[in-house]
Amino acid sequence: MKEYCIKPLLTGWFHMNWGLIMSPIAAGYFADLPVFMFLIEGEDGEQIIVDASYQHDHVPKFIFGPHRTPELEVPEVLKANGVDPLAIETVIITHLHHDHTGYLYLFENANYYVQEEELINAYFPMGYQAVGGYPDEWIDLVPRFRLVNGDFNLKEGIDLIFAPGHTAGHQAVAVNTSRGRAIIFGDAAYLYGGLAKRFPQQFYEVVAKGGVAGKELDLNDPEVQEVLSRVFGARYGGYFGPSILNPGEIMRSLAKLDLMADIVIPGHDPLLTRMKIIPDDYDLE
Ligand SMILES: [Zn+2]
Repeated sequence: MKEYCIKPLLTGWFHMNWGLIMSPIAAGYFADLPVFMFLIEGEDGEQIIVDASYQHDHVPKFIFGPHRTPELEVPEVLKANGVDPLAIETVIITHLHHDHTGYLYLFENANYYVQEEELINAYFPMGYQAVGGYPDEWIDLVPRFRLVNGDFNLKEGIDLIFAPGHTAGHQAVAVNTSRGRAIIFGDAAYLYGGLAKRFPQQFYEVVAKGGVAGKELDLNDPEVQEVLSRVFGARYGGYFGPSILNPGEIMRSLAKLDLMADIVIPGHDPLLTRMKIIPDDYDLE
């Protein structure tokens, strides 16, 4: 089967207030989370883009605290990685949140693959979901959307995997590599810590950072340990793949993707800033 590599392209950071996004458990927790686009490259030079980062002025700043240096501007990042946006034919959109749609318009000759369910819900968001989208960024591009219903084989070695929960029509991307199947989780998991059973060390590190602002969380405290043991007794961590829309669905999606993955690529984990090329640099130590 055809093999690809994946490059996480860092395009900025969110100094994010999780207390406003997730649940009271995250009250007072600010985290610096990187925002990525992903470049999938075939041995023959084929290039496919996954997601398109954010436009600074389209992000609710009190929640996300967006910041990027000049070299992290999306056109600069693409140029530095040998991507000519006009030559890209295929763009995959994991979901229509504002940090995934900001620069879709640059790919003037591309088709955009998105789940039909995602488009419907982005047109007509319910309540809190409306905060996550900025339809002006993509509404003129809809004629070039290719709507997918459920799991879909895009081409040899690349599959789109329906993984709802973070949004109604969220999808992940399965990519065949020389070290097995890599899954680009999108926001089905923000962090390795979201898959607590599989990445316990990362889970502890996230939890340790998650104490109430100004107060360290003591991992040796018996009460803290008891809470953590309950989390580990559950099937997945879940807290760190924010379950904005539907907690049950996101847990099922996490379970489905985890079963499929030889290589896990979450949406916003700082560890990915050290992995320039996956699978070559895939290392979680
Ligand atoms: Zn999202």
